[in-house]
Amino acid sequence: MERYDIIIIGTGPAGLSAAITAKIRNKKILLLGQKGSSDKVRKAHEIQNYLGLPAVSGENLQKAFLDHIAAMDIAITEDKVTLIYPMDNFFALQTARDNYEADAVIIATGVVSGKPYPGEEEFLGRGVSYCATCDAPLYKGKSVAILGFSPKEEAEADFMAEYAAHVAYYPMYKEDVKVKDGIEILRDKPLSITGAGFKADTLVTDAGERPYDGIFILRDAVSPKQLVPGLELDGPHIKVDRRMATNIPGCFACGDIAGTPYQYIKSAGEGNVAALSAVAYLDEKRRNA
Ligand SMILES: Cc1cc2nc3c(=O)[nH]c(=O)nc-3n(C[C@H](O)[C@H](O)[C@H](O)COP(=O)(O)OP(=O)(O)OC[C@H]3O[C@@H](n4cnc5c(N)ncnc54)[C@H](O)[C@@H]3O)c2cc1C
Repeated sequence: MERYDIIIIGTGPAGLSAAITAKIRNKKILLLGQKGSSDKVRKAHEIQNYLGLPAVSGENLQKAFLDHIAAMDIAITEDKVTLIYPMDNFFALQTARDNYEADAVIIATGVVSGKPYPGEEEFLGRGVSYCATCDAPLYKGKSVAILGFSPKEEAEADFMAEYAAHVAYYPMYKEDVKVKDGIEILRDKPLSITGAGFKADTLVTDAGERPYDGIFILRDAVSPKQLVPGLELDGPHIKVDRRMATNIPGCFACGDIAGTPYQYIKSAGEGNVAALSAVAYLDEKRRNA
């Protein structure tokens, strides 16, 4: 498998800034995330505190970011990382579509809103999944619930319907839902996940208990605890030092996921620091090899 120097996860200001610096330092990088940058950039009405761009709209800031990335010939690979596994001296990444390897990783995934549902973490990998594309074949002919936190997850429900006998889609947003015929759309509010034995088998909602063979929770971001086994946290954030280094050598974090204040310019600045620290880590590692 092709090995990258640095894989950067997230295409908000933190991830894009990290990618630019790593590219300038001639590292072989892979930038994973949404092609159009982060929704938190695009949706902002007017931003007054981004240096050099007074009263810029979110859409214009997004365009400036993406133009900069394109001018530096940096590609965004549209994908969602579901697991980062620290191996002996590299990282193995699992995404919704592929597997990757890198010597260092930079996590720039933004903050995860909301707490996990009761039962979600307990049954993860045992009837609860974060990745429809990865696990759909396991549910051939079965009954599945998909909790989609944004309209882009509707494509995942459509894909799941190619395998499962019954797909219930729970939109966790207000917009109209456009999924394939045959997919049940339910607006109940999920409350918890339960299971009588080893596996989850029930989604408890405000309308009652609904049995399923599998429950897919598709948020924009995966909680850092689930993303990297053994990663040290500080509340909802990844614990980092001033170099944006985590407790795992070669793993760096920046932007909102690394702590408050939640600001564009702080995220972009930390992305720059994380990339320089990752470069220093790689140089040191190679000197000692
Ligand atoms: C409406 C609004 C207005 C705001 N106004 C201001 C303002 O005026 N000034 C200011 O300084 N700040 C403002 N903010 C805060 C600012 O948006 C954030 O601080 C900033 O976007 C954080 O950047 P980030 O790169 O850390 O994370 P984000 O911008 O959240 O980007 C993270 C990206 O990572 C992606 N991602 C997450 N998990 C994964 C995964 N597992 N695999 C692949 N990709 C993943 C996400 O989809 C997202 O694209 C505003 C926020 C909002 C919501």
